[in-house]
Amino acid sequence: MAAASASKTQEAWQEEDVLAYWRMLYPAEEIVALFGSTPNREFSFTYGDAYLRFQRCVTGDDLRKLLAKKCDSKIGATTAHAGAIYPRAVDRQDRGEPIACELRYDIDLNSYDDLRAMLCGCKDDKACDDCFLFAQIGARLLVLCLKDRLGCKNFLPVYSGRRGMHLLVLDAGMRGVSKEAREAISKNVGAQEHPKMCQKRGVLWWAQTDADHLMVDQSGIRAELVKLFEKLFVAKYRVLEKHLDEVIRGFPDTVKREVQSKEHKTSEARWRALRTAVLRESLGSSNCKAGYVLQRSMDRLLASCFLPRLDAGPSALGHLLKLPFSVHAKTGRVAVPIEESRLMEFVPSKCPTVVHVSAYLNKITKTNPLQEPLAVLRRAAKQSETKTLLGKADF
Ligand SMILES: [Zn+2]
Repeated sequence: MAAASASKTQEAWQEEDVLAYWRMLYPAEEIVALFGSTPNREFSFTYGDAYLRFQRCVTGDDLRKLLAKKCDSKIGATTAHAGAIYPRAVDRQDRGEPIACELRYDIDLNSYDDLRAMLCGCKDDKACDDCFLFAQIGARLLVLCLKDRLGCKNFLPVYSGRRGMHLLVLDAGMRGVSKEAREAISKNVGAQEHPKMCQKRGVLWWAQTDADHLMVDQSGIRAELVKLFEKLFVAKYRVLEKHLDEVIRGFPDTVKREVQSKEHKTSEARWRALRTAVLRESLGSSNCKAGYVLQRSMDRLLASCFLPRLDAGPSALGHLLKLPFSVHAKTGRVAVPIEESRLMEFVPSKCPTVVHVSAYLNKITKTNPLQEPLAVLRRAAKQSETKTLLGKADF
């Protein structure tokens, strides 16, 4: 990693750094192979305040040239987006309605403000490695759910560069899914109505529907969710000392009274009391119904904290989503793809920035900071059977 700090922002890097990155290290060929092997695919670009839409990129050079284009003097970093595939030419007059693109999901930390207020206190654009875990575990649950319910196999999670995570589903059979089916899938996997509750800071949104706790139950990673809850809510931020009523709101009164007992003073003691009550009823009681109700309450608590809170807009067919390896204009971080099986290991504050890339290109540092994410992209491209999918025969 370069000696330069990963926290350096836009002021710390120059336009030349970004232009050199597009020219020398940006994986344009792989990106075009993955997203643009049909001329009817829309690429768009943000240059400062200017937008350039409906561009075609059939080769890596096409993409590289558009990335390096100067529209005005405000270029901090160009952001490249991929949109849908259109039925005919991409010319404005006969573009037609979008007909295909990957399934895409956007998890933004703004939707977790109720939880962030209880934990690290981050809000608006601010995000830390702790609250980013909500995006990571949300994406992990989403992956498991899409595997289980739709049989999807090829995923590409991508860090947005600041406070979000995009999940791209690259399976061939998923690209032609209709607008209506996309909406239904989004609803099925977590695009519920909770932001209003989240805006009421300090009030934990409680999962309401059976689908919510079933997503935890069927994920097969309940133990991992419990461990994450213990790490963040119980031990580090001691949420059960400050917000106990919010945490146990969905449990039966008998359990609430038990956990609220004066003998349990610390976050750990209260959590132990809650867990003991659930286990006792679930395993030891002859009253099966009571055990089921308690286990469901626990799953709803885990769902409230860790279910993917999806922004429905980016999942729509025509939406433009930032391409992997774009540079975030505010943070200078590169939107790196993450190995799906190592989603939880990603640490955003260690994400390579354009400053790191520049240090490598100028031979100040020896290791390519994008080596690992590039390998992830290449693996995903190899698996995606892009030619079959996006070739002219298909569209
Ligand atoms: Zn935070």
